[in-house]
Amino acid sequence: MSQQLETEVVIIGAGPAGCGASLYLSQFNIPHVVLEKETYPRDKVCGDALSGKVINQLKKLNPDWLDELKLEEKAFTPSWGVLFSAPDGNEIRIPFKHKPSEADHSPGFVTKRLDYDYWLFKKLDKKTATVLEGQEVKDVVIDNFGVTITSSNYEVKAKLLISAEGTRATVAKKYCNYKMEHQHHCAGLRAYYDGVTGLDQEGFIELHFVKESLPGYFWVFPLPNGQANVGIGMLSKYVSKDKVNLKQVMLDVLESPKFKERFKNAKLQNRIQGWGLPLGSKKNRPISGNRFMLAGDSASLIDPFTGEGIGNAMFSGKWAAEQARDSLTANDFSANALHQYDKTVYKKIGGELRVSTIMQKLIKYPWLFNWMIRKIKRNDELRETITFMFDDVDLRKKFASPLFYLRVLFK
Ligand SMILES: Cc1cc2nc3c(=O)[nH]c(=O)nc-3n(C[C@H](O)[C@H](O)[C@H](O)COP(=O)(O)OP(=O)(O)OC[C@H]3O[C@@H](n4cnc5c(N)ncnc54)[C@H](O)[C@@H]3O)c2cc1C
Repeated sequence: MSQQLETEVVIIGAGPAGCGASLYLSQFNIPHVVLEKETYPRDKVCGDALSGKVINQLKKLNPDWLDELKLEEKAFTPSWGVLFSAPDGNEIRIPFKHKPSEADHSPGFVTKRLDYDYWLFKKLDKKTATVLEGQEVKDVVIDNFGVTITSSNYEVKAKLLISAEGTRATVAKKYCNYKMEHQHHCAGLRAYYDGVTGLDQEGFIELHFVKESLPGYFWVFPLPNGQANVGIGMLSKYVSKDKVNLKQVMLDVLESPKFKERFKNAKLQNRIQGWGLPLGSKKNRPISGNRFMLAGDSASLIDPFTGEGIGNAMFSGKWAAEQARDSLTANDFSANALHQYDKTVYKKIGGELRVSTIMQKLIKYPWLFNWMIRKIKRNDELRETITFMFDDVDLRKKFASPLFYLRVLFK
């Protein structure tokens, strides 16, 4: 016999999107239920890089939390920038901060999701949030009277649903006609290694577009205690068309002249694991409907070029919570009213998703990518402009401007 609960908003999933939504609903004093399939601490296959977007979001939620992160140096590696390498071997280092010496914390961090997600999960405010772990949602029914969610032991009735369940996206499939499309989906592998040499002293994350990994990319992200998160991502379109064995590609990269020496004494900590990345490359994909909104990976909001999804997951959770507040005030949960959420999401991040989609397509033309990296490497001002863009989330909009590319071309 399942236990019955009634609430204003129900959230499926307590990853970054679900926790983001819950934390903001609590700020608005809205009672809600969070249902999470797993029991924390739980792992999630990921590159483990927390970008400035995540850090800015945490700072807004509670400025003291960043001091906590700084102290948790056993779990969180401060990251000050990104290194890109092109197929011809050229590399550029882009700091995330214009003036690192003036910063009171690093702009990014690298931390195992096992640690970050658990840390965030513990911040949920139990005064307004009823948090239920080990509750896999088995069924979702939405009608004009409300939402009914059935999990392992509960039946939850609510006025509104936020689906933050990650890639499985049962609500997206049932109510948004979502289908996995290979051109908007990336396959990823992640492994933890000990003893990788040459890791950046300032915690720069490394994104390598080397010829062995093309048309995919290979990453090495430094973790605390000399560990590294190592992985590879490739558009599912290429994986399925060319029947690519992604694990073999990754092992080939490790054996390539560029990495052989660095991985000579490296030890794999556990098995190489795979997971999908639903990319935000499909323009204006519907992400809401009658009485529901999709957030994070459920809404396919991962950056198509960098594979970064935690920041957009948390932001979309926030915007979903704001929309929930407005809909509760107006007592209007219709598809029409909730469509405002789609508009907000695409107004805020649609531009950068489009630019990243263009950048992703560039990887298909290694000569163009080589040229671009060479150009940026030779031009201090351009590198500085890109740093400014990482530094200030709003400046990322510049990436969407054709003028930026004209500058790259003629500088
Ligand atoms: C290989 C790889 C590398 C990546 N690297 C990075 C990176 O370095 N930086 C970055 O920013 N992003 C990265 N991403 C993307 C990032 O992992 C996701 O975008 C992010 O986890 C999305 O958060 P989310 O809350 O939407 O989903 P999730 O983190 O997947 O959380 C969803 C939650 O819902 C729960 N759930 C699922 N189904 C149910 C159900 N039926 N009932 C109840 N609960 C349910 C799950 O247990 C989970 O806890 C990477 C992804 C992959 C696959």
